[in-house]
Amino acid sequence: MTADPLLSLRKVSKDFGGGVFGLIDIDLDIAEGEFVSLLGPSGCGKTTTLRVIAGFEKPTSGQVLLSGEEIGPLPPNRRPVNTVFQDYAVFPHMNVAENVEFGLSVRGTPGVERRRRVTEALELVGLADKAGRAISALSGGQKQRVALARAIVCQPRVLLLDEPLSALDASLREQMQLELKNLQTRLGTTFVMVTHDQTEALSISDRIAVMNEGRIEQVASPAELYDRPATRFVAGFIGTMNLLSGRAVGDGHVEVAGLTLNLPESRGMASGAAVTIGFRPEDLTLVEGNSAAPVVIRTTVFHGPSLRILGDLPDGAEVIIDIPRSGASALLDSSTARALAPRPGATPVLIRDLS
Ligand code: ATP
Repeated sequence: MTADPLLSLRKVSKDFGGGVFGLIDIDLDIAEGEFVSLLGPSGCGKTTTLRVIAGFEKPTSGQVLLSGEEIGPLPPNRRPVNTVFQDYAVFPHMNVAENVEFGLSVRGTPGVERRRRVTEALELVGLADKAGRAISALSGGQKQRVALARAIVCQPRVLLLDEPLSALDASLREQMQLELKNLQTRLGTTFVMVTHDQTEALSISDRIAVMNEGRIEQVASPAELYDRPATRFVAGFIGTMNLLSGRAVGDGHVEVAGLTLNLPESRGMASGAAVTIGFRPEDLTLVEGNSAAPVVIRTTVFHGPSLRILGDLPDGAEVIIDIPRSGASALLDSSTARALAPRPGATPVLIRDLS
């Protein structure tokens, strides 16, 4: 993170009363021009975070800073922030251009500049030829583009997007994800997007804040979240992860499922200390023969280029292993003894429990 973030949340909490905490001590720094997603299950506090930034919700404690200045006392319409909502929130009685122009009229932007900016915004979202079209004559994707144009025409410093694509069907949603990313890159505007869809967050964000029960558990790039999940929750939420119980055996090594692994992160842990090790299915494989880590195969599932194997370890733990389909048949022969092994180059991770 840069030394001077554009937007900062400092120890922000929101107590809704009656024992309901929307946010607990949220710290988040967002750089100018970043695309950051807030990702997490229903009720984890994503929308509350966005509403606090927009000024629709007043935090119980903590600060919201923009370029180092506190914006907490500013009402929503005085913040250089615009929001795009899930249900578009476009005005049905105005045509496309009128919808986009509305915010500028309210701000008293002169007519010539207004028209120039509306044209520019419609061009950016690919609706230049639909300026006079009635809202009712637009598809869902087009309505969402109008909502985007209406937000960007005001040139906010931060654009907030609350599940902006969730009302769209799957293929349109994928297309719009790319459009959103392209738009953000071209504008260079800071985007903060709420989503509960990990694929969406992983594919278009520069960084993702993973939230759980009102807290941020990890803020990192998509690759880092996938490769180095910091907590058990993040490991379980992003992709598929085997969480295997083991123990430290000293000198930067751990023993897990009958395997001894070199894991420098465990250096300094007392020998015998309990550890949880995260292994992606593609980081595990099966080898022929008897060993200390036998696997009993329960099910095999077709997964495109690979086969996903669900197996049992001697301690009863379930393990998920992805192996390439080519050459898999010998390994899956029921008369063969099979054992668990890390794939060469595998990067198991030591998983922390948040307490
Ligand atoms: P979803 O994905 O379902 O929209 P979310 O992650 O956006 O969920 P929030 O809407 O931020 O979650 O809600 C966080 C918590 O705060 C939830 O327990 C919710 O019930 C509670 N909450 C949100 N708004 C209010 C409110 N106005 N009054 C009382 N409780 C609220």
